[in-house]
Amino acid sequence: MKLTHSPAVMSAWSLKQAASGLRIGFVPTMGFLHEGHLALVREAKKKYDVVVVSIFVNPTQFGPKEDFGKYPRNLKNDLALLRNEKIDVVFAPTAAAMYPDGVKASVKAGPVAKPLEGVFRPGHFDGVCTVVKKLFDVVAPHAAYFGQKDFQQTLVIQDMVARLRLPVNIVVRPTVRESDGLALSSRNVYLSPQERAFAPVLYQSLLQAKKAVMAGEPVREVERTAATVLTLAGFKVQYFSIADAETLVPISAGKSPGRKGKVVIAAAAYLGRTRLIDNVVFRL
Ligand code: AMP
Repeated sequence: MKLTHSPAVMSAWSLKQAASGLRIGFVPTMGFLHEGHLALVREAKKKYDVVVVSIFVNPTQFGPKEDFGKYPRNLKNDLALLRNEKIDVVFAPTAAAMYPDGVKASVKAGPVAKPLEGVFRPGHFDGVCTVVKKLFDVVAPHAAYFGQKDFQQTLVIQDMVARLRLPVNIVVRPTVRESDGLALSSRNVYLSPQERAFAPVLYQSLLQAKKAVMAGEPVREVERTAATVLTLAGFKVQYFSIADAETLVPISAGKSPGRKGKVVIAAAAYLGRTRLIDNVVFRL
């Protein structure tokens, strides 16, 4: 397994692979890897000739009051995990290498970035689009793998790829969870033992809401009940939204789910200082 911090070295390696007719699968991450990341890596390994994983805590997707400085990092352990998966290259650039003209977002996310996360993390998806576009330019992958855990992010990226006509196949894979339902996340290390014990209530509330929606209960009511349950369990809820899974337009705004009838229930809530997000997607 090769480790490079240099975009130029990364690009040269990718060009060489492509010239030999090899297809590149790519998994962009911010590191502090867990089984959710590794599930993406294994899927990419299955489908593509060579696999690149990037590890880069991207400054432009963090707000000024967010956790960029204390975001967990452990490159040594990440490299050991990836070596075990027998991937080909780890690309771990510096911020200076990725942003030679200054740390700022230069790609604008589309309208699907506006609701949910967009309300509470303004500019977040511009940062995500900017770094993903730059990573795609450097790595030149045939396919890139993303987790459903960050559902809105997958929509924002699919929209960017379509608008900019990027020649990258976007693959979305299911959320990997702990046995009690908590979605794996690098940020879960922030949770105190007591918070960790309550954390699965987030996923439970999503499943409960899905059941209620499928039973025909009014969506506004379902949203309100879920938010109350979470608040009683000690969460500070930012949003709990039942929406069209293609546009993220709330179904409670009088719209019925779009063409495919796909619905997402997405939530973000703080447990202590830790911000957790999760979602479920289903067909009505
Ligand atoms: P991150 O390192 O948090 O930026 O995540 C890198 C990629 O891994 C993103 O596409 C995430 O959606 C995905 N990911 C994170 N957690 C999970 C999980 N529990 N299950 C599946 N994919 C995940």
